[in-house]
Amino acid sequence: MNVLMTLIRPPNRMGIFDMPSKLLPTDRICIRCKNAKAVVYASQPHWYWCIDCRRERNRDWARKASATNPDRERERKRTWDRNNPEKKRMSVRRWRKANPGKMAEFTRKYRKRRFFMYASNTLKQLTGVRIPALALWGLWKKQRGRCALTGRTLDARTNYNVSLDHGISQCKGGLTELGNLRWVCLEANFAKHKLSDEQFVTLCSDVVNHMNNGGKSNVRYT
Ligand SMILES: [Zn+2]
Repeated sequence: MNVLMTLIRPPNRMGIFDMPSKLLPTDRICIRCKNAKAVVYASQPHWYWCIDCRRERNRDWARKASATNPDRERERKRTWDRNNPEKKRMSVRRWRKANPGKMAEFTRKYRKRRFFMYASNTLKQLTGVRIPALALWGLWKKQRGRCALTGRTLDARTNYNVSLDHGISQCKGGLTELGNLRWVCLEANFAKHKLSDEQFVTLCSDVVNHMNNGGKSNVRYT
């Protein structure tokens, strides 16, 4: 069979795939977009589809299926993901590349959520009391993301320089409960240590007075 014979061979379903692409006959027109180029799929004899229209139609079907029976569709997708981990990974990668803005937003939200979950877990480990992450987030909102002692802006995206302080410290019988907790920056918490608020304010004002007087102060420790 020579090349000419290959060209005039009547189109059939299997014939499309074993022919080299440049020998594809040009009279095959996509039944949806009427585009003669890159027609690769025949759903019926003489019903040709280009790859884009085919993909689009499959998407339409999937959309329709998930609208009529969302649970089944979700289960089907989950099964597919489990069975095709490599393909799933590639598709996720493709989606991330196509939606950089959405991805950044998602990451930001996730980091924030993780921060409060992490804080809740740490608190549980240190004190044995579980304060839900959502409650800690509410406290954060109440303080408008600012340190309760210094008023500095705190950053929830990283846990850098952020800590939880017991208003009445634990060694003085302060309980680990929402009313006794507040978000502070780490330096302020270190400096405050076991002091009460009044003692801490006295300490700070002493420091200010002493430093402003060039290291000479009238304050005496009693
Ligand atoms: Zn088409």
